[in-house]
Parts: sequence; C-alpha cells; structure tokens
Amino acid sequence: MLNINNLHASVGDKPIIKGLSLDLPDGEVHAIMGPNGSGKSTLSYVLSGRDGYEVTDGTATLDGQDLLAMDAHERAAAGLFLGLQYPVEIPGVSNLNFLRTALNAQREQRGEDAVSAADFLRMARTESAAFDLSMDHMKRGVNVGFSGGEKKRNEMVQMALLQPKLALLDETDSGLDIDALRVVADGINRLRDPKRSFLLITHYQRLLDYVKPDRVHVLQDGAITRSGGPELAHELEREGYVGIAA
Ligand code: ADP
Ligand code: MG
Ligand code: MG
Repeated sequence: MLNINNLHASVGDKPIIKGLSLDLPDGEVHAIMGPNGSGKSTLSYVLSGRDGYEVTDGTATLDGQDLLAMDAHERAAAGLFLGLQYPVEIPGVSNLNFLRTALNAQREQRGEDAVSAADFLRMARTESAAFDLSMDHMKRGVNVGFSGGEKKRNEMVQMALLQPKLALLDETDSGLDIDALRVVADGINRLRDPKRSFLLITHYQRLLDYVKPDRVHVLQDGAITRSGGPELAHELEREGYVGIAA
C-alpha cells in the first residue's frame, strides 16, 4: 500500500523530515506517535501534496505509484485521504455540496459515473448519523460554528463518504471527549478493510485503546526511531518520549 523510503522534506529552508522510512501494508492500521514538533503534521502534509513542503530526497509510493509526482487532487483520486489536525472552516460552502463535489471530482478523475443528488443525500444521512452529526451540520458551511469535536467527527464523515484506500488521520483524537472518541473509533473500526490502510498520527495512546494498531512507530526529530506492536504505545505512555529515545 504505502511505501516511504528515506524521505527528506523541508519547509522553507528548514529540514523537518529527515530520512523517514515506513511500510504500511494493505489492510493494516499503523500508528505514528511522537512529541510535539517531531514532524507528524509535516509528514501528512508532504504525503498529501500540500504547497510549501519540499521533498529533498527519498520516495513515497501508493500501490506502486509515485505519490510525490502527483498533484494533491491526483493523490486524492488515487485514494489518499488526509484528516487534518485543525480542520478548516469554509464559510459559504455547505458541507453537503462540498462533500458531493469532492466525491464526484474523485470519481470523474477515476473515470467513474457521478453520484446523483438523491443517492448522495442518502449516503450523507447514513454517515452523518453514524458519526453522530445532525443533518443541520451537513447543511451548514463546512465546519462553520462546529465545536472541535464536531469538526473531527465531520472529518470522519468525509472519510466514510470518500472511501479512501489510505487514510492519514492527524491527531483525529485531540479535542474529543470520551464519548466522541468512541464514536470516531467505532467509525474507523467499521471502515477497516483488507483493502484499506490507516496511518493514525497521534500524540497520546488513548485512541489506540479503541482502535488497535497492527504496528506503532515512534517519530522523533523527523525520523522513525522505534517500531513495535501495540504494546509500544503503552510503553511510551509509561516512559514518555524521552525515556524511549533510540
Ligand atoms: P507535530 O505535528 O509533530 O507537532 P509539525 O510537523 O507540526 O510537528 O512541526 C514540525 C517542526 O516543523 C516544528 O519544529 C515546527 O515548528 C516546524 N514547522 C512546521 N510548519 C512550519 C512552517 N510552515 N514554517 C516553519 N517551520 C514549520
Ligand atoms: Mg503538534
Ligand atoms: Mg501536528
């Protein structure tokens, strides 16, 4: 699925990702944990093709396709989804219109038929209910006036509708209370599939109590310093990132 080899990336002239390698097989859930400022969000931006992030060395492929050679919208059409740490508000564009446009743009790029307005509305009702967001939220401007937790749940509705091959979720758990965390975790677990992979980027181990990862990687200063099974997350919680330095 996702193969990253010796990735180096800079923001401006500042190197942030420094020789990061990672293999995420089909159907697996991997967690990336790391202290603040270690490069977690930068990694997700680099993989999703955000402007201003320059790859200076290394490779990243999705199902063998060179991700780094694609535009951001091509990466999305190839099945990459990014759930943002800080979801953006888009006043004046309803959540429903935004999602239907995104879904149909991806389908068009893949040569698939557009989803009709009626079919889309049915899908949106199902997924918003699954993540405990009202249809009123779906009709509002994207994330406008949403609480932190509602924004995170809205990211999950987007993911469920877009059905990505690879979901990069950047601190989806931050700002969620325990009930919202369960809703989000249930949603991720429901979307687990032998053909879909997840990279859960998180500062805390809490989410991993509900979504059991196949592998846990520790990111420190732009590189993976340790990898292990789910128990590594508990070790981190006990010892802290300093205690676990390579
Ligand atoms: P994390 O998500 O792990 O907290 P980030 O990827 O947000 O870390 O940031 C990694 C490092 O890159 C930090 O030192 C941060 O200050 C720096 N950084 C991130 N974005 C920018 C930017 N746009 N300009 C300059 N430095 C940045
Ligand atoms: Mg941070
Ligand atoms: Mg971050």
